[in-house]
Amino acid sequence: LSEKLGGILDRLTGRGSLSEADVDAAMREIRRALLEADVALEVVRSFTDKVREQAVGATVVKSVKPGQMVVKIVNDELIAMLGSDSQAIDLNAVAPVPIMMVGLQGSGKTTTTAKLARRMTSRDKRKVLMASLDVYRPAAMEQLAVLGRDLSIDTLPIVAGQKPPDIARRAMEAGRLGGYDVVLLDTAGRTTLDEDMMTEAAEIKAAANPHEVLLVADSLTGQDAVNLARAFDERVGLTGIVLTRIDGDGRGGAALSMRAVTGKPIKLMGTGEKTDALEDFHPSRIAGRILGMGDVVSLVEKAASTLDAEKAAAAVEKMRKGKFDLADMREQLEQMTKMGGIGGLMGMMPGISKMKNQIAAAGVDDKILKRQVAIIDSMTREERKNPDILKASRKKRIAAGAGIKVEDVNKLLKMHRNMADMMKAVGRGKGGPMAGLAQA
Ligand code: GDP
Ligand code: MG
Repeated sequence: LSEKLGGILDRLTGRGSLSEADVDAAMREIRRALLEADVALEVVRSFTDKVREQAVGATVVKSVKPGQMVVKIVNDELIAMLGSDSQAIDLNAVAPVPIMMVGLQGSGKTTTTAKLARRMTSRDKRKVLMASLDVYRPAAMEQLAVLGRDLSIDTLPIVAGQKPPDIARRAMEAGRLGGYDVVLLDTAGRTTLDEDMMTEAAEIKAAANPHEVLLVADSLTGQDAVNLARAFDERVGLTGIVLTRIDGDGRGGAALSMRAVTGKPIKLMGTGEKTDALEDFHPSRIAGRILGMGDVVSLVEKAASTLDAEKAAAAVEKMRKGKFDLADMREQLEQMTKMGGIGGLMGMMPGISKMKNQIAAAGVDDKILKRQVAIIDSMTREERKNPDILKASRKKRIAAGAGIKVEDVNKLLKMHRNMADMMKAVGRGKGGPMAGLAQA
């Protein structure tokens, strides 16, 4: 293993930066990939302009070709634009919390309503009422009732002759009387964007005052995705987007288009016809699809792993010198979160397994990792470099800044001391794995 790291150190010594010609050449490919993935033209333009600006002059790791480097930058920017963190449905309101589904006919509103109800009932332990407001297709209300019976989730009794906003009011009343936590309002769609659909959706919204308005959209929607999302957001006001048919063979460009024009988060993905086929949105998965299968994605992965190796090498170098301040620790914690918890970077370094076990024993999970990063972020640069100056008053300020207790700051500092000691010991080890590295 140490031999491998030594090799990495060697390869990382030389660098260049991306020229305009490199970027332009790569950008042509990227533009083609985005258009093939059905990202709307206007979004492709603004996206490539933004990335171009960022890419020109960026540092290239030597072992990576300039084109690969651009792809890596594009991939990161795509993920950032799609929304780096998956956002949950917000149920923080007075019960019953109304949630309204809107979208074109056949986009998956009714199915998604049932999926969401199932998840909220079984995972979140909420009492959910589903109501169909689709008065245009006789089978629509029955479809939701059948799904409700299958899942043992209540549906609003069907009353003939009521208008959708009246049904919405009745659903909310039933929700209050029945002690429900959530009322899901499944509305009617039409085959194309039209004025009647928008007017009706706006009326339902006014009647029920939904806490979330979710646009349910087929991930196979092409260039129309932009108009669809923009119209619903302007006329009705969206709080989020649900992307259905991710299990199909579309490239998912609609996700980027809708997110870009509305700025609203994509909250969930439908991955099949069954009611359990609902997942949190994974930006990296969609970014990979948009950039295209095969070559491009594997290039990205290769470039990414090289960049991580570069960070590992820098960390090893610091260890060797016996320096490890809170800024370094923050870097490590971030890496751990990024790589899916304890392991990752530390696992790549020799002699660190002991520390890994120690951290694991302390019961550190992703949430705690994130909190520790937040604590370090509340410190000044000076404090990060020199933790010894952290006396009571500074600790108090940091705790207030991060929204935690002083004892949490103390815990973090103790963990830092342990890590620093361990780093020093490993770095000094004569016959240890680092000895080989020092010579490499
Ligand atoms: P609505 O008109 O918007 O209410 O759409 P429906 O919920 O009735 O769905 C239309 C069709 O799409 C049905 O046959 C669903 O089974 C199917 N469907 C919905 N979501 C998904 C999904 O995520 N994946 C797949 N493969 N099919 C879906
Ligand atoms: Mg429906």
